[in-house]
This record gives sequence, C-alpha cells and structure tokens, in this order.
Amino acid sequence: MNADYQTSVPNIYRVGDVIGFPSLASTSIEQGRHAACHAVNVHATHMPELFPYGIYTIPELSMVGPTEEELTEKGVPVRGRQGAILRRSPAGRSSATAAAF
Ligand SMILES: Cc1cc2nc3c(=O)[nH]c(=O)nc-3n(C[C@H](O)[C@H](O)[C@H](O)COP(=O)(O)OP(=O)(O)OC[C@H]3O[C@@H](n4cnc5c(N)ncnc54)[C@H](O)[C@@H]3O)c2cc1C
Repeated sequence: MNADYQTSVPNIYRVGDVIGFPSLASTSIEQGRHAACHAVNVHATHMPELFPYGIYTIPELSMVGPTEEELTEKGVPVRGRQGAILRRSPAGRSSATAAAF
C-alpha cells in the first residue's frame, strides 16, 4: 500500500480498520476521503498530522495532539485542569459527571 492507500492492484485501496491502528472513525473517514479523491484523480490534500480522537462514551471524550506523557517527555510544561462535565438527557437526568475521570 502506498501513501495514497493504493494497493499493488491499482484500482484497489485499503483504508480504515483493515489497515489497523488507529482504527478510529475520524481517521478512517479521512483515509477514505483521500483514497477516493486519488481514485478519481482529484487532488487530495496531504493527510493532516493530527487527527481528533473521539470516543463515543457517555460523557463523550475526545483529544487531539500530543498526550501529557509525550509533552512531559519532551520537557514541555503541562498544566492540568479538572472541570465538571455534566450532561442532561432530554428527560432531565444527568447521565454522567467528570468525577469518574
Ligand atoms: C464497539 C466499537 C466501538 C467503537 N468506538 C469508537 C469510538 O468511540 N470512536 C471512534 O473513533 N471509533 C470507534 N470505533 C471504531 C470505528 O467504528 C471504526 O474505526 C470505523 O468504523 C472503521 O471504519 P471502516 O470504514 O474501516 O469500517 P466499517 O465502519 O466497519 O465499514 C465497513 C463496511 O463494509 C461493509 N462490508 C463488509 N463486508 C462487505 C462485503 N463483502 N461487501 C460489501 N460491504 C461489506 C460493512 O457492512 C460495513 O458497513 C469503534 C468500533 C467498535 C467495534
């Protein structure tokens, strides 16, 4: 597979879960978009260096960029902050709080 997700069979591309890590919706979508553009000879932008990671839990979690551990390893000061996450369902019940995090 080359950088355009094209396999050795030129009209066959591999994207998403079949190529493994990170196997997320956001990355799979972007890989698919890139491969589809390439397949129809539309100029596709380069793949972004950073992808948002969305985890569809309750509450939803997401991150983009380096982790706290990666920054600490590079000597970049990190400041953490804890905030309250409170989500109300249509029925008015809270579904989760940040206390678990
Ligand atoms: C339980 C679970 C939780 C997840 N949670 C998250 C999350 O929180 N955040 C996140 O980003 N990602 C999450 N993922 C991962 C995310 O769903 C996948 O990375 C993403 O859907 C991969 O997209 P894909 O297009 O590669 O594959 P898929 O979305 O699986 O699409 C493949 C499609 O091909 C079809 N297909 C299969 N065989 C054939 C065939 N022979 N002919 C025609 N069609 C066929 C299938 O029916 C399917 O529709 C989760 C995955 C699972 C299983």
